[in-house]
Amino acid sequence: MPAWTDHIRDVPDFPKPGILFKDITPVLAHAVAFADAITSMAEPWRDAGIDAVVGVEARGFILGAAVARELGVGFVPVRKPGKLPAHTLALDYGLEYGRDRLEIHADAMPAGARVIVVDDVLATGGTLKAAVQLVEHQGATVVGTGVLVELGFLGARSAWTHPAPLYASVVF
Ligand code: AMP
Repeated sequence: MPAWTDHIRDVPDFPKPGILFKDITPVLAHAVAFADAITSMAEPWRDAGIDAVVGVEARGFILGAAVARELGVGFVPVRKPGKLPAHTLALDYGLEYGRDRLEIHADAMPAGARVIVVDDVLATGGTLKAAVQLVEHQGATVVGTGVLVELGFLGARSAWTHPAPLYASVVF
């Protein structure tokens, strides 16, 4: 496994008993690990003609914005309810430990914009799937998705039906 993965910290029973939380803040705090992690997320898309990177609140903002800079494109946030100031589109979804709702600015990207959607951790896949659906509803084209960490034992990949590729920099 690449050296940057040593900086992923396991935190048991957060935010609920029974959840093993993959904490990426030590990766972010380490200059070389952070740079290598971002490079690994950007690599598949260097020649893919991407117009923008969409990141999911909150850790998807940190990674997505850095990947966008790496690819030389813009960044679009998908946020929790009530945070975006202009006209929004919304989608409700279920996640590993509860239910939530995502929003995007209706005018965030031109119709047909070629985008990737990124997040930190793929657990059940519900968040990423909802973000992809929301982005497509907005009118952009999702050419791929990427996560820093995939929790392989949860089986999200085998349930992933979207035709665009799903990249994970590391799978546990
Ligand atoms: P899911 O929708 O189940 O794939 O959950 C993914 C979202 O929840 C991501 O935005 C993660 O940040 C967070 N998440 C879920 N499970 C974990 C976990 N075990 N460790 C870290 N983050 C998690």
